[in-house]
Amino acid sequence: MDAVRELGELAASAGCKVKYGEPMSRHTTFRIGGPADLFLSVPDETALECVCGAADRLGVKILPIGNGSNLLVRDEGIRGAVLTLGGAFQTLSLGKEGRIRCGAGVPLAEACAFARDHSLTGLEFAWGIPGAVGGAAYMNAGAYEHAVGETVELCEHVSADGKPGRFSGRDLSWGYRKSPYTDGGAIVTFVTFALRPGSRSEISARMDDLFARRKSRQPLEMPSAGSVFKRPAGHFAGTLIEQCGLKGRCVGGAMVSEKHAGFIVNTGGATCADVHRLIGVIQDTVYKKTGVKLECEVKTIG
Ligand code: FAD
Repeated sequence: MDAVRELGELAASAGCKVKYGEPMSRHTTFRIGGPADLFLSVPDETALECVCGAADRLGVKILPIGNGSNLLVRDEGIRGAVLTLGGAFQTLSLGKEGRIRCGAGVPLAEACAFARDHSLTGLEFAWGIPGAVGGAAYMNAGAYEHAVGETVELCEHVSADGKPGRFSGRDLSWGYRKSPYTDGGAIVTFVTFALRPGSRSEISARMDDLFARRKSRQPLEMPSAGSVFKRPAGHFAGTLIEQCGLKGRCVGGAMVSEKHAGFIVNTGGATCADVHRLIGVIQDTVYKKTGVKLECEVKTIG
């Protein structure tokens, strides 16, 4: 039996849902990506520790994903196992003094709504970011001059070889779209946010306002992975791309959004290769015309 199959069987006996050859286009907001050899939905920490330990022993690479909203998966797919967090990782609870503890699989929007419903302020900026809590912590997702890391008090994780661990907020170093987990291999399992008491109606009004701004500026009606590029120092990627006349530029099914030039949208049937060629055109044109190097925020995997 090959290592992937052996891991799949072990995962099934640990209570995971198991699929083979699962198209990743079903699990990314870009709707792009070839098949993952093994696709697991893990129900709890015991199963996660078992799967990570076995994958480490068998030499099978594992990739945790959240909502796939910052991912560009190659057309050839992913060799190894993709792991999503279900069951216990989809729960959230209210702690003392403005703490909320969220499973890493909880949609960030659900965490924001939970905070609002308990009159807790601090997460409004994240309303509308379409990730899960674990992906948002990994990416240190942010908007409107705030980022997730500001409100994190504690992150719990399972290491790549299956050992539980935690970082307290003080130990964590966060940067622009960078977290203590970036490129580290550990899987975030739970995040505790420390929020402040606020007025429910004010929190709600702020969330509505920020979402309305998003809706008016971003092509939310089309598949994408959000802003393709990080914000270059002193500039906005979308503005530079627009100034270079690239709005509406297409390669295959991939197009620079007419609504927000920082987004590439899938107009139907775009491949990862299309998106990569379009990214190349954008980077070359912007560099030649403005001297600014655009760095990808979207992660290519596979
Ligand atoms: P995924 O895309 O699934 O994964 C992203 C990375 O995180 C991968 O490297 C993955 O391996 C890793 N990861 C995921 N879960 C875990 C885990 N539990 N443990 C360890 N690593 C993990 N981003 C912003 O920052 N601000 C915005 O305003 C914003 N707006 C967006 C608007 C749209 C329309 C879209 C489509 C995207 C937008 N994004 C934005 C990008 C994206 O939503 C964020 O980066 C989000 O945090 C990604 O979360 P995810 O759960 O989808 O992660």
